[in-house]
Amino acid sequence: MSAMLEEIRPDAATPRRERKRVVIIGAGFAGIAAAHALRHADVEIVVIDRRNHHIFQPLLYQVATAILSPAEIAAPIRQLEAKQRNVTVLLAEVTGVDVASRTIEAASPGAGVRKIAFDYLVVATGMRPSYFGHDEFARYAPGLKNLTDAETIRAKILGAFELAATTEDDDERARQMTFVLVGAGPSGVELAGSLAHLVKVTLRGNFHRIDPAKASIILLDAGNRVLPTYVEPLSRRATRRLTKLGVKVMTGVKVEAVDDKGVIAGGNRIPSATVVWTAGVAASPIPKMLGTKTDRAGRALVDPFLKVVEMPAVFVVGDAASVMQKGRPVPGVAQAAIQEGRYVGRLIASELKGRKLNRPFRYFDKGNMAVVGKNYAVLERGSLHTSGFLTWLVWAFVHILSLPQLQNRLRVQRQWVWSYFTGQRSSRLIPETHELGH
Ligand SMILES: Cc1cc2nc3c(=O)[nH]c(=O)nc-3n(C[C@H](O)[C@H](O)[C@H](O)COP(=O)(O)OP(=O)(O)OC[C@H]3O[C@@H](n4cnc5c(N)ncnc54)[C@H](O)[C@@H]3O)c2cc1C
Repeated sequence: MSAMLEEIRPDAATPRRERKRVVIIGAGFAGIAAAHALRHADVEIVVIDRRNHHIFQPLLYQVATAILSPAEIAAPIRQLEAKQRNVTVLLAEVTGVDVASRTIEAASPGAGVRKIAFDYLVVATGMRPSYFGHDEFARYAPGLKNLTDAETIRAKILGAFELAATTEDDDERARQMTFVLVGAGPSGVELAGSLAHLVKVTLRGNFHRIDPAKASIILLDAGNRVLPTYVEPLSRRATRRLTKLGVKVMTGVKVEAVDDKGVIAGGNRIPSATVVWTAGVAASPIPKMLGTKTDRAGRALVDPFLKVVEMPAVFVVGDAASVMQKGRPVPGVAQAAIQEGRYVGRLIASELKGRKLNRPFRYFDKGNMAVVGKNYAVLERGSLHTSGFLTWLVWAFVHILSLPQLQNRLRVQRQWVWSYFTGQRSSRLIPETHELGH
């Protein structure tokens, strides 16, 4: 094993053979929390991610709608090495896991594939968009999962108005000014609300040939209500708010096709040049590589200690894990990912000290919030259900505090204040690499 260890970080000061190695795949909320919980442990931690940055996903919709720029909601993962001496960061995509030989395979840009041995493995690879067996939709309907997706959506939205302003064809103008968001969960609702404000306020007076406020924003879902994970009264309030903002909410409507002309939903064609997919998610392929049982979305079924059943020292945390508590699944939200990562980090630290942690993982629900346009948010926390301006203020406060890096907190705060009072958005860019229209 040590030959493979040397490959990663020759560290003469550390008697490597005496130190165990924890490999963490994924530096999202769960992976970073696990690494942090191991900061005082006498262990070597290798954090592997295919990206060089951690993304604060709850604000991706603000990048997609030009409020924030990508750098404001991201932080370099490499900073972990500066903050924590026992961490090595590796930019690589994990392509294989062999639990029997306790190795993973990681492909690094320019360095090829190498094997990395582990004593403990923490899988924290999150989820990716799922098109429910219709991967061909992806070409026309990007999901919202990373910064590239957010920039693609932003370019599509802004580009649609440019094309609407130049075409002489009325039908094409209407198609360019129709935006279809598939999936009325928190991401779809937040995008719809923010888009409504963009077309009505930010773009007001910016085009002489078209009126952006006349754009049509349609939020579609096959289920029977928006925000299905929230209690019904909050769903109803969110629907009322969206309708007031000019969003057409269509529930109980299944999308049958997405192509270069728009969507076919509930048997009807809706011509649209911008379709965004926030309807479904599936786990990354890594949990399946463990050879363990997974649920329908590909999440690994873990025991109450977040261990993969019958595989000692292999854990799955965050969105990639299917965790049941009191007969209900722990939700795929940032708080759950952080708590699971922290729990596993502490559990490993205890085991390294020869102590056994007998307390199973317990999720503490701090509540869920979603923003519905400017000045309005909904909050559900146990039996507390609130909505409105004060809830929105709480949302803003919590999100500013949760952002990675102080500099991001300051920049986002400044952007929000400026945008709140002027209605302007600072990130209205269509990269030259983006091809307009389809
Ligand atoms: C648009 C959007 C909005 C959201 N809004 C909210 C919200 O308002 N509130 C809330 O609580 N939650 C929200 N969520 C959910 C929340 O972001 C997730 O629950 C959380 O990110 C899960 O954390 P994680 O660490 O499990 O996975 P992630 O944060 O997704 O991190 C997974 C990491 O694994 C890496 N990775 C994956 N596969 C590999 C591989 N093979 N090799 C190397 N690296 C790999 C990825 O690059 C990534 O960095 C939102 C999610 C999205 C997409």
